[in-house]
Amino acid sequence: TLPDDFGRDFIRGVHEHLGGAADALGDLDRRSGDGDFGANIRTALKLAAENIEADAPSTYRQWGSAMYMAWLGVGGTSGPLFGMFFRDLAKAADDQAEPTLAQFAEALAAGQATIQKYGEAKVGDKTMVDALDPAVAALRSAVESSTSAGEALAAAEKAAVEAARATAETTARRGRASYVGDAAKGVIDPGAAAMALVIGAARAAVD
Ligand code: ADP
Ligand code: MG
Ligand code: MG
Repeated sequence: TLPDDFGRDFIRGVHEHLGGAADALGDLDRRSGDGDFGANIRTALKLAAENIEADAPSTYRQWGSAMYMAWLGVGGTSGPLFGMFFRDLAKAADDQAEPTLAQFAEALAAGQATIQKYGEAKVGDKTMVDALDPAVAALRSAVESSTSAGEALAAAEKAAVEAARATAETTARRGRASYVGDAAKGVIDPGAAAMALVIGAARAAVD
C-alpha cells in the first residue's frame, strides 16, 4: 500500500524534481529540439501552483488534477502529452482514497497507452515513452510478486533513469529531435529524463 499523503507528496515531489531540473532539461532540448522544454516545464509548474493555491487539494485525485490541468494549458508536445498522462494518473484512486500500489501501476500503464495513442511513438523512438515503458514493467512485476511499495517504486525509478540515459545512444523518430537526426546522438532525450524524475517523485513520496 501507499502512504496516506502519497498524492500530496508525489505532486510536491514533481514540483521539486522538475523545477530543479528545468534549466538542464531546457539545455537538452536546445541540443536536440527547439529549446522550449525548460520554459514549458516552468509554465506548467506555475499553473499547477496557482491551481493548488486557488483550491487547496485534499485528496490524491485533487492533487493529481491540479497537475494535469496545468499541463493541458501548456504548449509544445510535452504539454498535452504530460497533461493526459497526469490525468490518467489522477484516475488511479476513487474520490476520497489514496491509490493502492496496484492501482497506481495500472494508472501509469494507462498513461503510457494514452501517450502512445496520441503521440504515436514506439519504445526506442527517443521520447518520454522510453523511460516510462520499463518503469511500468518494473512496477507491474513488483505488484505481482508483492514487493513493498518502496522497493517497487525504487525499481521503477532505477529502470526509468537507466532507460532515460540510454536514449543518448538512440536516434529520434518522433518529435522535433527527429528533424536533427544524428545531431542529437549523445544527447539524452529531455522528455525521457523528465519522465524518470516524475517516477522518482513517486518513489520519494513513499520514503
Ligand atoms: P516540442 O518538441 O513540441 O518543443 P517539448 O520541448 O515541450 O515539445 O517536449 C519535448 C519532449 O516531448 C521530447 O523530449 C520527447 O520526450 C517528447 N515527445 C516529443 N514528441 C513525442 C511523441 N510523439 N510521443 C511522445 N513523446 C514525445
Ligand atoms: Mg521543445
Ligand atoms: Mg516547441
